Amino acid sequence: MSKKIYLNVEGIGNEVIEIFSKTTTSEFRTFLCNVADYKDDSNIILKLYKHDGTIIPVSTEIESNTVDEPYRLVFRKTKQLSQIESCSNSCKLLANEEDDNQLNINPRITQSSTKPIKTPCPAKTKVEKIEMIYRHNIERPTFNKEITDHLKEPTFDIWQWKENGMISLLEYMFIELKLLDYYNINFDTLDNFLHCCKLCYNKNPFHNFVHCFCVTQMMYGMIHITDLVKILTPREKLILMLSCIAHDLDHPGCNNTYQINAKTDLALIYNDQSPLENHHCAVFFYILKKPETNVLESLSKEEFNEVRKGIIQCILATDMAKHSTLVGQFKDMTGNFDFKNEEHRTMLLLMLIKSADISNEVRPTRVAEPWVDNLLEEFFMQHDKEIIEGLPESAMMDRKKVKKSTTQSSFISYVMIPIFEAMAKVLPNMDDSVIQPIRTSLAYYKNLKV
Ligand SMILES: [Zn+2]
Repeated sequence: MSKKIYLNVEGIGNEVIEIFSKTTTSEFRTFLCNVADYKDDSNIILKLYKHDGTIIPVSTEIESNTVDEPYRLVFRKTKQLSQIESCSNSCKLLANEEDDNQLNINPRITQSSTKPIKTPCPAKTKVEKIEMIYRHNIERPTFNKEITDHLKEPTFDIWQWKENGMISLLEYMFIELKLLDYYNINFDTLDNFLHCCKLCYNKNPFHNFVHCFCVTQMMYGMIHITDLVKILTPREKLILMLSCIAHDLDHPGCNNTYQINAKTDLALIYNDQSPLENHHCAVFFYILKKPETNVLESLSKEEFNEVRKGIIQCILATDMAKHSTLVGQFKDMTGNFDFKNEEHRTMLLLMLIKSADISNEVRPTRVAEPWVDNLLEEFFMQHDKEIIEGLPESAMMDRKKVKKSTTQSSFISYVMIPIFEAMAKVLPNMDDSVIQPIRTSLAYYKNLKV
């Protein structure tokens, strides 16, 4: 038994071949290669198209055809994955479902006739857009003892300071924690880095540079109050301070739920996995790619990798979607918390940044309350956007429904108190300076009428 197969070879000429029932698929493939004067090797893909364009398997099961409707035989060279990646900016990767029927499944690469497709990297774009004049020979800031003592307290009044003053205070913290000496950080670089970070924060009502300063100052305060300053390694201090500074970089003012529902670039690039936190972190590391702002330039490769790992862990932990899981894991450790256990120490760092991030109500009401109004304003703006864009509405951001007193009472009771109380089981001196002020805030919001 045999059958004749009519072929059009790469649109150039027609051939007819005969295959027998004993012919194997491998022999059939070699036969097809020979017809076109190709040497059969694994780098070549054969494709057979029917008259209507359908791709059919290269197999001896192939149906006989007629001279009027020959199968079109084409050859493609396979690409190595590295080649595909390297040309991804200038080539279009076409995945054709029908190709799955092919014996050799490979993505089809065709040169795009239009402009090269570039995957936007929002973090890179943001940092590249920052225009700043790098300064040199900057004088180190000096503050009187009253200010430097106050800086270590949650009662520090951030509203007395302008943003450039906050940068000087951040610089002081790095100096006081001896991070410049330990990591050989050039002071000009630190100053340029902090100014660059300031410019990478957007002017949102809440997620702005002042929030970044508040979180960092609370971290600095907590590690002093609890004597962690004597326990933490320089690396841990560096990770915590840099993570606080970086943790909301380029926050767009709408949360992860919005990013995902609106299918923003951030949600698509990070596949809905903490898109904002991933972005903040990426912006930070792009800032470090500039020599003028690379505060980690003196670190050895190994040290840099450890610091980078720690910062990524800390920033990703600030996604509130992970809050109960992380706090639950930490609570399980508090019974036998061991400072010699690396896993316990890492979890403590995550708790520190998470608690600093939501710590406004540790501050006196006069300092803290404007933040509630700012956050609600940012929420309401998101809700307005959701309505305009026809997205699912976040009920907790609806200006017609939200009441400041109940929102804040619930937040303090169910989010703040559990994490701070868990930390108080492991860290000393938390009650008077941290837990008690939170309870005072709770009482204030429970009595508030608006
Ligand atoms: Zn934050």
